[in-house]
Amino acid sequence: MTSVVVIGAGIVGASAANHLARAGAEVTVIDRAQTGKATLAGAGIVCPWASAMDDGPLIDLYVRGAAYYRELLGDLGVGDADPGLGYRRVGALVVSNEPDELEEARDRIDRRSASGAVLGLDVADHVGDVRLLDNAEARALFPPLRTGLDALHVSGGARVDGRLLAEALLERSEVARVVSPARADLVVDGSRVAGVRVGLETVVADAVVVAGGAWTNDVLAPLGMDRPIDVEPQKGQILHLGLDVDTSRWPVLLPPGPHYLLAFDDGRVVVGATRETGSGFDTRVTAAGQAEVLDTALSIAPGLANAEVLETRVGLRPLAGGLPSLGQVLGVDGLWVGTGLGPAGLTIGPVFGRALADLVLDKPPIFPVEDFSPAR
Ligand SMILES: Cc1cc2nc3c(=O)[nH]c(=O)nc-3n(C[C@H](O)[C@H](O)[C@H](O)COP(=O)(O)OP(=O)(O)OC[C@H]3O[C@@H](n4cnc5c(N)ncnc54)[C@H](O)[C@@H]3O)c2cc1C
Repeated sequence: MTSVVVIGAGIVGASAANHLARAGAEVTVIDRAQTGKATLAGAGIVCPWASAMDDGPLIDLYVRGAAYYRELLGDLGVGDADPGLGYRRVGALVVSNEPDELEEARDRIDRRSASGAVLGLDVADHVGDVRLLDNAEARALFPPLRTGLDALHVSGGARVDGRLLAEALLERSEVARVVSPARADLVVDGSRVAGVRVGLETVVADAVVVAGGAWTNDVLAPLGMDRPIDVEPQKGQILHLGLDVDTSRWPVLLPPGPHYLLAFDDGRVVVGATRETGSGFDTRVTAAGQAEVLDTALSIAPGLANAEVLETRVGLRPLAGGLPSLGQVLGVDGLWVGTGLGPAGLTIGPVFGRALADLVLDKPPIFPVEDFSPAR
């Protein structure tokens, strides 16, 4: 039996561990659960099709990640909604007061639907129905929305609670052991990885998967390479507001720019988020971060003004300057890495972890991974 240590139990590590264990590997997961773990802070929007991202391998991967949710949820026995995962296909509203912006969003959605032919996926089926709504129709779906904003409704949009999903992926598989919070240090023997050290214990393994998020280069430091992986932390501050109404079916709200709003089943409305490139590992909640997120949220949905502020979460997105990294670490047998999903990791992470497991098990990966080779 292949023995594998997975470092990191965010969405990427949890998915990789799930697939490795289900394929019969003996899997140990070690997670330091650092403050800033991105999977615990992620908003949970799964709706890539209107993204303003340039065409190319990353948006293709994003679209693939959303399509993979159907298989993932099927494996977990989940339909269109599961309160235990915070998952619900609530639809999304792309909102704007500029008709041109909504037309451009529709063009992008059409282009991404058409890309399904190249990706071998029925993307249009995942996107669902796309139709223009006037302000009254949009407000019927998301009552705090500002008057004057029109919307493009995308019925396939969904949201998920990343922390519940990552936990479920570990719990609903035969992962032998989860050690957390604990730090793993690589043990390298010449040109191959021998396992990891956890405190005084050495865990010997045939393979080690590094899914260390923003901390990946810290994990790889024993290799003595200068920044082996293209990844750095990007801080995101995100607020959770509480309302005393049923928000369970409110759609995800996508205004122009990086900010957004979404709601969960328990009256929680999540508004985010800052994108603080160059933040380093700072995880403080700041006055400017709070102000930016709240100002933007209230300008789009002034009806939230009286909501209770429940908490602010801070996550460090593992941001790549170029493309994410997925594959074997150059020159080290048995050492694999998967990271760099930035603001899209809760959507892409499950399929990314699956591809990582495929590679470790020497199976054809679920999607072509050449563009994401850490050696590129
Ligand atoms: C505010 C915010 C909003 C977001 N919204 C969305 C969204 O709506 N949709 C979407 O698709 N994505 C979203 N994302 C992005 C997504 O959350 C991340 O891309 C994703 O969670 C990254 O997962 P990961 O597993 O790579 O890293 P992480 O979740 O950060 O996990 C890495 C883990 O590795 C552990 N680790 C590191 N070093 C060691 C070591 N030496 N030993 C043991 N463990 C170690 C860390 O402690 C950590 O627990 C958002 C992110 C943020 C911050």
